[in-house]
Amino acid sequence: MPEGHSLVLAARRIRPVLGQHVTAGPLAGTAVASIETRGKHLLVHGTDGRSLHVHLGMNGRVRLAAAGAGRGRHVMRTAAADVVIFGTSRVEVRRRGDLHLGLGPDLLGAFDGAAYLRRARAIDRPVAELLLDQRVLAGMGNVVRAEALWGLRQDPFAPVSQLSDRRLLELAALGRRMLRAGVDTGRLPRDVYRATGRPCPRCRTPIASRMLGLPTPRRLYWCPGCQPAIRGQTPSGGSAG
Ligand SMILES: [Zn+2]
Repeated sequence: MPEGHSLVLAARRIRPVLGQHVTAGPLAGTAVASIETRGKHLLVHGTDGRSLHVHLGMNGRVRLAAAGAGRGRHVMRTAAADVVIFGTSRVEVRRRGDLHLGLGPDLLGAFDGAAYLRRARAIDRPVAELLLDQRVLAGMGNVVRAEALWGLRQDPFAPVSQLSDRRLLELAALGRRMLRAGVDTGRLPRDVYRATGRPCPRCRTPIASRMLGLPTPRRLYWCPGCQPAIRGQTPSGGSAG
């Protein structure tokens, strides 16, 4: 599943259509006024007040093709290039004023720490579940969640109420650094993500994983040995996979 950094990279990739008149596909009949990302959402604003809203699903991609060469269900054509959107969960055109994404502070935008803490404290639940809630914190995905929790030796199952404001802000800040580095390098850290059963790079305990969260459970990866490091006990509930 794409994380916030891949949307920023997609927005950069399609920059050649800025100012171009759209001849076919989404936003046909208007010109591209601006391109923006909010969390895991890509927004292409037209000069006529309409916006193309793209939310990438598990395998969604946005590519730039030579003008006239784009193929697929969602191709936005301009004289400069075609924007091809495929494998996505949602592609829609709306009036700009009707875009209510309901997102929390954007990790890759002007991040508002106080607003994040307010939203984080609204529901008590495992911190690992909180970090994927885009209404609390926009832009974090499954990779950065696991890596940020591991990076700070944070017990992923600790309820939010047990974490200090400072700790919640540290998790957001580390996620932000990882996503920013992802924008620069195209890569995210991979110390525990999809490493089930492999030794932890820090303490050699086998990495555990399990499904967590509602309504769409996602697989969480963590080290039972050093998250948290102070407890000698290994939390139960780990499974292979
Ligand atoms: Zn470890």
